[in-house]
Amino acid sequence: MPRLVMKFGGTSVADIDRIRNAARKVKQEVENGYEVTVVVSAMSGETNKLVGWVSGAAQGDTAGTPGFYDAREYDAIVSSGELVTSGLMAIVLQEMGINARSWQGWQVPVNTTSDHGAARIESIPTDNLDAKFTEGMQVAVVAGFQGLSADGRVTTLGRGGSDTTAVAFAAAQNAERCDIYTDVDGIYTTDPRITGKARRLKKIAFEEMLEMASLGAKVLQTRSVELAMRNNVRLRVLSSFEENTDNAGTLVCSEEDIMESNVVTGVACSRDEAKLTLISVADRPGVAAAIFTPLAEAGVIVDMIVQNISEEGRTDMTFSCPVSDVPRAEKALMDAKARGDFNFRELDKDVNVAKVSIIGIGMRSHAGVAQKMFKNLADDGVNIKVITTSEIKVSVLVDRKYMELTVQSLHDAFELERST
Ligand code: ADP
Ligand code: ASP
Ligand code: MG
Repeated sequence: MPRLVMKFGGTSVADIDRIRNAARKVKQEVENGYEVTVVVSAMSGETNKLVGWVSGAAQGDTAGTPGFYDAREYDAIVSSGELVTSGLMAIVLQEMGINARSWQGWQVPVNTTSDHGAARIESIPTDNLDAKFTEGMQVAVVAGFQGLSADGRVTTLGRGGSDTTAVAFAAAQNAERCDIYTDVDGIYTTDPRITGKARRLKKIAFEEMLEMASLGAKVLQTRSVELAMRNNVRLRVLSSFEENTDNAGTLVCSEEDIMESNVVTGVACSRDEAKLTLISVADRPGVAAAIFTPLAEAGVIVDMIVQNISEEGRTDMTFSCPVSDVPRAEKALMDAKARGDFNFRELDKDVNVAKVSIIGIGMRSHAGVAQKMFKNLADDGVNIKVITTSEIKVSVLVDRKYMELTVQSLHDAFELERST
């Protein structure tokens, strides 16, 4: 029998009525002849609530680091939201006459690394599920976002991780398609909450979606796109609140399957960024390694890096990272300075920046895209603090208060409202 994976996000399972609504879509696919694996998120708001409880319970470690907690227990707690929705979905499906059973991550098992809070899926042996499908199970309802480490502990896959669970099941089960049901009816040229002019894309290339996701479009978790690309999973994003036809939603597919490639396909933004500058560090071989090694060891996710022009043997080194990593970054740099690993005069910190990026595979073969972006920001009077580029994207750091304006303005400038 052909297989299908259907994933329902937090808002799609926010209460019993919505679970029932999602279950109707599942029933429809069962009637269409599929063996279905449903992956569910926790009810919307639930994971945030659980994370809040963890922070509330954590009193700090003996070294005085506030909010320290055992990551294994964090995972034990935050994975619980999905246990509830998977059980509820199974009950609702059973009520509709479907042979459904819930599966927690460890029961499958979804084998992961032991990086608690950001574990990666290593393998999903499907023997247990296969045996049950053979015995007549029609739907397996899998708790998303969670797995099992080699040492037998529950792990979680990072925020938004149920998308990755879904794609991993689609790959492991050789599913015909992986449908991601969410609160928007597809992937848009930019977050539709930022501009009403955002347009739904019928198709988007894996490479573009990978950039969009990693640059802030949280409609799909970055790793899910990576995994889909690697395993050639047919990935579709669509609305759980609408009747969907065959052409509904957005298909994430290979570049070759897209006839018209845009110069710019989308604009992404990421609100909670910070910019740190080490003022007056010695400009000598090894200094970058000396700075970024303790940052990496402290788990700081460094994004953009700029080294300024050197004067009299000294330079300024600027980098960006998520705002939440700033205390760890500061501590790592100050400790390294105290140890004498390197020296700097001052650490300048700007925690009120956001990153705005334009993305498109057509940029590979078009000149002047970055220039057009910069000119647009200049006309709006928005100062660019840091720039990075790759083959298919240009990103800038701007004051957070200008983020929405910048997204809207670039969306207009590159005429993304218009269908090609
Ligand atoms: P779920 O709970 O279903 O996983 P998420 O909240 O994680 O849903 O993702 C859906 C949200 O992603 C949308 O409500 C939308 O605001 C946001 N989003 C950001 N960028 C985009 C984009 N380019 N296209 C569609 N949605 C986007
Ligand atoms: N519930 C988890 C989160 O909020 C996983 C997910 O929804 O994808 O991040
Ligand atoms: Mg999500």
